[in-house]
Amino acid sequence: AKEHGRNMYQVYTTSMDDKQFQRFFMERDLRKAIMNDEFIAHFQPRVDAITGKTIGAEALIRWMHPTYGMVSPGEFIPLAEETGLIISLGKWMKRQVCEQLVTWRAANIPLIPISVNISSQRFLQSGFAQDLRDLLSEYKLDGHWIELEITENSLMKNEEYIYQTLLELKEMGVKIYIDDFGTGNSSFHYLKAFKLDGIKIDMSFIQHISCQSENAAITAAMIKMAQQLNMDVIAEGVETKEELAFLLEQNCHHIQGFYYGRPCAAMEFEKMYL
Ligand code: C2E
Ligand code: CA
Ligand code: CA
Ligand code: CA
Repeated sequence: AKEHGRNMYQVYTTSMDDKQFQRFFMERDLRKAIMNDEFIAHFQPRVDAITGKTIGAEALIRWMHPTYGMVSPGEFIPLAEETGLIISLGKWMKRQVCEQLVTWRAANIPLIPISVNISSQRFLQSGFAQDLRDLLSEYKLDGHWIELEITENSLMKNEEYIYQTLLELKEMGVKIYIDDFGTGNSSFHYLKAFKLDGIKIDMSFIQHISCQSENAAITAAMIKMAQQLNMDVIAEGVETKEELAFLLEQNCHHIQGFYYGRPCAAMEFEKMYL
């Protein structure tokens, strides 16, 4: 069930029966939205369950559609990827996060690192690290305030370029997390080939962990592996006390999920978590 805003895709579906039409109109609206700046960033806290402190946040894009209201990224990110518009959205988001960080800094609010989702399309295009370096220096921000969430498929092609990019990012102090860990169809080769900072265990493994023994076994194994590789582990989609208790038992205490908080706008985030 959608709780945040209306489901735009369904609005299109009910008024139009042709899939091509739906996509056509959504793409048109998305292009307009980029010109008219109809997006906002929401932030979801990442908490250390032992100290109860907010140790970071993930920036998540929202589309404030002039007629349909708030549209969630699940509705438009796939089309943005297909049409290449994801490049503009990613650019917008990285700048937005820098703006937010300097706003907090100017207000003397203690900063936390904010992670940004990076499409593999952008990550694999040349100049990724350099662009980020330029952006950070424009805002006079140290690299450790920005973290990147990439998916396994960003690490499967062009090993030499990826290696070089990761090296540059490391020099800048920018941490790299593997998002949706466990859902890709890649091998574990990249864990050996690249030095990554952490993994985010996909929420499909976390949910119902207490009553699905397969999920519990897989999650425990992923945590153990990451720890032995000296990687940070973030459990995503944690909603219940039982899920949290299981994770703590496995020594995983970096938690992101509705249990601690839903994504929200910057003002609310700063009141509740900073
Ligand atoms: P993701 O990167 O895996 O982000 C986590 C998603 O899980 C978010 O959905 C978040 O609201 C949701 N979530 C967090 N905790 C819980 C929980 O406890 N329970 C449940 N049921 N859900 C939880 P959201 O914001 O709708 O984003 C969906 C996806 O859209 C993201 O998945 C990401 O792949 C993509 N996305 C969002 N913002 C951006 C962006 O700026 N750039 C790119 N490239 N992709 C983005
Ligand atoms: Ca993510
Ligand atoms: Ca994820
Ligand atoms: Ca994802």
